[in-house]
Amino acid sequence: MPDKKPSSTKIGPFELYAVESGRFRLDGGAMFGVVPKTLWSRHIDCDEKNRIPMAMRCLLIKSDNTGKIYLVDTGTGTKFDEKMNSIYAVDHDHSDLLRSLKQCGVAPGDITDIIFSHLHFDHCGGTTYYDEQGELRHRFPNAAYHVNERHLQNALNPNAREKASFLKDNIEPISQSGRLNTVGDNHTYEEGLHSLPADGHSVGQQLPVVEADGKTVVFTADLIPTHVHIPLPWVMGYDMQPIKTLQEKEAYLTRAARENWHLFLEHDAEKEVITVQDDNGKFSVKETMKLSQV
Ligand SMILES: [Zn+2]
Repeated sequence: MPDKKPSSTKIGPFELYAVESGRFRLDGGAMFGVVPKTLWSRHIDCDEKNRIPMAMRCLLIKSDNTGKIYLVDTGTGTKFDEKMNSIYAVDHDHSDLLRSLKQCGVAPGDITDIIFSHLHFDHCGGTTYYDEQGELRHRFPNAAYHVNERHLQNALNPNAREKASFLKDNIEPISQSGRLNTVGDNHTYEEGLHSLPADGHSVGQQLPVVEADGKTVVFTADLIPTHVHIPLPWVMGYDMQPIKTLQEKEAYLTRAARENWHLFLEHDAEKEVITVQDDNGKFSVKETMKLSQV
């Protein structure tokens, strides 16, 4: 399937692009936690291995005010061997980070800042690659890497349950790059671009927020990976602190409905952006749109 041109929009001084970096698949049961398959399978199809389709939709942000070009997350990248590619059904024919960036008129050297929501492999793997000699190289030679400081500690000292998500050939080059900038919670990158903390999935996850022209676009990362995760109890089995996720979803979705936030979905294979409605604490999708319609 040929790549589709990335959807884009301009709000205030920011040009935003939905940058697809590839597709992959994860176990449907793990993606929906305590929700039985008889329920989740009404909303999303799985393959013969019980895996559901997932996007790795990064967000490119060009700022007129500072001239900076931010990339939020980098997908799995291309470092997996055949076995890992097959376990996760990684598909770069559908889309690829470099091809998608090129369609936005951006070369790897143009990226000034990479904001990592967190360092699980499907969010930071594309930062580095193996060259033809098998040497590990940085894909974006001029970019500063921004990671929440609590998350970095978590990634460097993971518990046994989260360990499989933090891969050495992802984490080491980022932490030893000399370009790593650790940020606190609610960090402001520049006027109109800040982040919100969301610890339930992984300690120190940050959700970048673009706010301008009366519009708010929130990169929901793994707090709300797909639109199917909008109902409060639909929390991933992967989450380290599911009760915390529940509280964070309730707080953020309440604001999202009241303040008409546009939720940018990193992992939804179909929907790029949604808004939500709040019916006395029962949340549901209100509108579905492309980023270009925000
Ligand atoms: Zn994650």
